[in-house]
Amino acid sequence: MKKLSIISKNKCLIVLFTIEILTMCVHAQTKECGTKISQEQLDYYYRTRESRRQLADQLKQERSISYFYAPVQFHVVRENDGSGGLTEADLITILNDLNTNFLDAKIQFFQCGQPEWINSSANYNFDSDNEESFCSDHDVANVINIYCFNSVIDDGTSVCGYSRNPPSVDRAIFKNSCVTGGNTTHIHEIGHYFSLFHTFGKGNDCTFWHPCNEKVDGSNCNTAGDDICDTPADPGVNTTSGCGSESNCLYSGSCTDGNGDTYSPPITNFMSYSSSSCRTNFTNDQDDVMHASALSDRDYLSCPLLSSCASTLSLSGTQNSEYYYQASDEITSTSIITSGVYSSYHAGNSVMLEIGFNASEGSHFHASIDGCWGTDIFRQSNDQSHHISIPNSELVVRPNPFLETFEVAIELNQGAIVSIDLYNVFGQHILTIQDGASKEEGLVNYSVNASTLPAGVYMIHVVINGKAFEKRIVKID
Ligand SMILES: [Zn+2]
Repeated sequence: MKKLSIISKNKCLIVLFTIEILTMCVHAQTKECGTKISQEQLDYYYRTRESRRQLADQLKQERSISYFYAPVQFHVVRENDGSGGLTEADLITILNDLNTNFLDAKIQFFQCGQPEWINSSANYNFDSDNEESFCSDHDVANVINIYCFNSVIDDGTSVCGYSRNPPSVDRAIFKNSCVTGGNTTHIHEIGHYFSLFHTFGKGNDCTFWHPCNEKVDGSNCNTAGDDICDTPADPGVNTTSGCGSESNCLYSGSCTDGNGDTYSPPITNFMSYSSSSCRTNFTNDQDDVMHASALSDRDYLSCPLLSSCASTLSLSGTQNSEYYYQASDEITSTSIITSGVYSSYHAGNSVMLEIGFNASEGSHFHASIDGCWGTDIFRQSNDQSHHISIPNSELVVRPNPFLETFEVAIELNQGAIVSIDLYNVFGQHILTIQDGASKEEGLVNYSVNASTLPAGVYMIHVVINGKAFEKRIVKID
């Protein structure tokens, strides 16, 4: 154990401890995925297919795409007496798994609040018929609500989990044994949440409605299977009505497509129905689809705790899960940060680690004198110069994505000089919305007609009294 005591009134102070956690376990036999695509979701997908493809192509060409930070709320269901269920260490492993495997998609996950521990034997083994009544009591708005159960029954069958393609509620349902011990259901299901289909097609099986009809030669890869061309054609390996199965991470079928070509399906892909532990990768095109989906379908995700900025924070008790704290003036702490946990303090003037504070060996602890960052707290490592928060000022851009016009609304807590400009993803200036005008305290509103711009991603760059702030906006057609 290492003890640490620091007082600083200076500009910058960083303390860091690092460890890695590895766990191994055994996989339980259960149907891999209960995610079903509704007609509404399919209609939405087909309606937006071309514009999201253009957006994905545009993002692919851009060299340094900003990360999309997705707030997560864990809900861990246990027996009435508090026994059973996942541990905090399990949740951190799940989060680490997601962050590792969504890194190339430029999507990163963080806990917006402490995990919720729900003691309910009635739901410990969960039936999806009860989802609405149970989950609606626990959901947190505008974050990804991840529910972890001992088992999950869907339509009378045990499943490893399910989520939903957009548009949908912000939920993912997991069976504990399928998301721990090297299993990958959590990565698969969050892939659905960001618009991915199974590699064999848009259903859970190969049926008349959802045929597994992608050709091996790639000739129809834009409109068959998962509509993604760098995932090889999959004849529905390991599905009940597909062709061929996987054994020990090898494809054992000899099925051929309509041209007589033999399949070589993507057994290691997270969105296949291969054994959980065989799945290790997304393709580049899948990464692009997910990033575009984050920007166009899930842009409303936000963490209110990170948007608020208290003057002072006083922390105590044991911190068992990843968390970010920020205060405009001072943070004092007697917390114990447990091994494997990431903790980050950001204060305007001082961080005071008092007697009792303990960053355990193996924890990650970071403190800096840089004040409140809002949700931009995660962007510091990417670009220190661009992302400066506006304390107590709110910037809203809506609707996002937009078709022709959008509104920029800024709530100023004091009079300020305001400039607003629009840039494309290549950093080229497109439009001046406000050229350095003096504005009084209160709400400042701009309606912007951008109907002549091509569809794509743009950045709204706002400067208030010399401090810069950026917000991404997406135009669709
Ligand atoms: Zn699935």
